[in-house]
Amino acid sequence: MEIRDHELIIVGAGPAGLCAALYAGRSEMGAVMLEAGLPGGQLLLTELVDDYPGVEEVGGQELADQMAGHAAKFGVEVERAHIEVLRRDEEGRFLAVAEGGKTYRAPAVIFTAGGTPRPLNVPGEAQFMGKGVSYCAICDGAFFRGEDIVVVGGGDAAVEEGEFLTRYGRSVTLIHRRDELRAAALLQRRFREHDKTRIVWNSVVTEITGDERGATGVVVKDVNTGDESEIAATGVFIFIGFTPNTGIIEEHVDHDGAGYLSTDRDMRTSVPGLFAAGDARSQLVRQITTAVGDATTAVFAAEKYLLNLREQKQ
Ligand SMILES: Cc1cc2nc3c(=O)[nH]c(=O)nc-3n(C[C@H](O)[C@H](O)[C@H](O)COP(=O)(O)OP(=O)(O)OC[C@H]3O[C@@H](n4cnc5c(N)ncnc54)[C@H](O)[C@@H]3O)c2cc1C
Repeated sequence: MEIRDHELIIVGAGPAGLCAALYAGRSEMGAVMLEAGLPGGQLLLTELVDDYPGVEEVGGQELADQMAGHAAKFGVEVERAHIEVLRRDEEGRFLAVAEGGKTYRAPAVIFTAGGTPRPLNVPGEAQFMGKGVSYCAICDGAFFRGEDIVVVGGGDAAVEEGEFLTRYGRSVTLIHRRDELRAAALLQRRFREHDKTRIVWNSVVTEITGDERGATGVVVKDVNTGDESEIAATGVFIFIGFTPNTGIIEEHVDHDGAGYLSTDRDMRTSVPGLFAAGDARSQLVRQITTAVGDATTAVFAAEKYLLNLREQKQ
């Protein structure tokens, strides 16, 4: 088994990972950043960002490229690696084992693996994934130009992405299991005021229907009456939440009920040497600003940790 030694491992290259890489590179900490895909994380799913201070409007892809370029400027090592397991050896060092067995070892880790969209788990979802079923409006919205679109969910992502989809769809129907939305008031207003939108309240999707060409609609059940009806749609966009990508951590780490890692204010988890930042961390709000803020704190806390470790060994 090939093992590569580093002082610090950063898992994930979303905004949190890229910011951690920037500071770790700048401090010459001997870090490696491990990323399963392309740098940018969820920024690659985001069409436009208009709430990053100092940057009035920027495309998600463009911001991702800028962050990656900025981190690269400070010379941090970056590897394309899908980490399957993160564990500790008997000496307390972390081993990040990638697909294929390549292993990275370091006394400290900043975990910034973010989250992935939560599926509905209903019949038809897997069958029509990529053939009408989508979790990314920016990536797939344009395929449904002039067609009927259904959006499932009631939080910020559902409402924001639903409004975005009005630029392509003939109609956008939001299906929500409650009688009020969780989304921010401004997002709700923008969605409701659009003439292409409507909301189906107190309803859950029980099936996604389709034929050989792809999705044709959703079966919807009224949670109060139990009545079922079908809504025709060729695009079914699911925004019912994200699952944190924390399952690869073998050791027990304190976490909240949804699996997000608990930290103290210095981003330290319950495992010494393991720090968490960004969407993988238990916190009130998950944004680019909070991700980079967490990452900044995590790098300096990790640097202190490594310094103490070295002093203890001397
Ligand atoms: C559609 C959409 C629109 C949004 N709009 C905005 C907005 O306008 N403003 C805003 O502030 N926020 C917005 N957000 C939220 C924002 O994008 C996230 O809060 C932010 O990206 C979190 O950064 P992160 O680095 O913690 O995680 P992520 O962006 O999720 O990055 C995690 C990275 O880790 C990698 N990874 C995961 N598991 C592994 C593994 N096992 N091995 C190696 N790599 C791994 C992933 O590939 C990914 O690149 C939006 C999110 C979405 C989905």
